[in-house]
Formats: sequence, C-alpha cells, structure tokens
Amino acid sequence: AEQTFVIIKPDAVAGGHVGNILARYEDAGLRIVALEQRTIDGEFSDRHYVEHLERDFYPPLRVFMTSGPLVAGILQGDDAVARVREINGATDPSKAAAGTIRADFATSTRENCVHGSDSVESAAKEIALWFPGR
Ligand code: ATP
Repeated sequence: AEQTFVIIKPDAVAGGHVGNILARYEDAGLRIVALEQRTIDGEFSDRHYVEHLERDFYPPLRVFMTSGPLVAGILQGDDAVARVREINGATDPSKAAAGTIRADFATSTRENCVHGSDSVESAAKEIALWFPGR
C-alpha cells in the first residue's frame, strides 16, 4: 500500500488538535505506521523545506516550525498521498474546502496545522529524512 508522510504542525499541537486530526486520517482508512512527537531545530527545518529555502515566506515558516513540538508520522493506505492532501485542505485556510483540517483549525497560510507529502517521490524523501531506516 502507498505511504505518505505527515506533520501535525506546532500550532495544531499547541491547540490540542492532535487526536482529532489523527482520527480524521484513521476514519478515512489510513493506518499509522510511525508516529512521534518531536521538536526540530532550524537546520532540520531547512532539510525538510529544502525546496523553499529561497522563498520570502520561508524565514518566518522556519521560526514557526521550530517554535514547539510537532508530531511527525507515516500513514499507509490506498492513495495515501492524495487522500491526506484532500483531508488537509488548501494551503490557505480561507480557500480550504469545508470539513477539511485547515478549514476547521488553521489560522493562517503559514500556521496551517498540517503537512502532507505532495507526491510518492516526496513521501519517500521525507520518510528517509524523518524516519531513517523505515
Ligand atoms: P505542505 O507542504 O505543508 O503540505 P502545501 O503543499 O500546501 O503544504 P507548500 O506550497 O509546499 O504548501 O508550502 C509549504 C508550507 O509553507 C505551507 O504549508 C505553509 O505552512 C507555508 N507557506 C506556503 N506559502 C506560504 C505563504 N504564501 N505565506 C506563508 N506561509 C506559506
């Protein structure tokens, strides 16, 4: 079955939405194959967001992603990559479809509660970075 990588970002952990978010993934038929709460430093953020390093939005995103604990995980199931992105909703919560995680909980385009890999290839890279050996 397909695997994808997710982050429940520091805003969602601080807001107490971890259980609700995981329930949405599980209720959609996805299964948790790895899950860990951790706090990352700026260098690790740079490795995760290597494609965004030069973007104007990256420096404040780096501050946000290192501001407190996040929950990183691997989810598995049919069409896991696309299914998670559908459940997460659009990057900008004001454009996210009703009933998505971002529509329900996100406060801004930066502090948007969740990350989901954008392709099977990205998922493999992100899983290798966050969960080496899996
Ligand atoms: P993710 O990769 O986190 O699932 P995404 O694919 O919807 O989100 P990307 O375009 O890859 O979004 O951007 C990565 C993250 O950078 C976003 O989730 C958001 O936290 C932040 N971000 C993106 N664009 C902006 C922006 N214009 N202003 C502020 N933050 C942004």
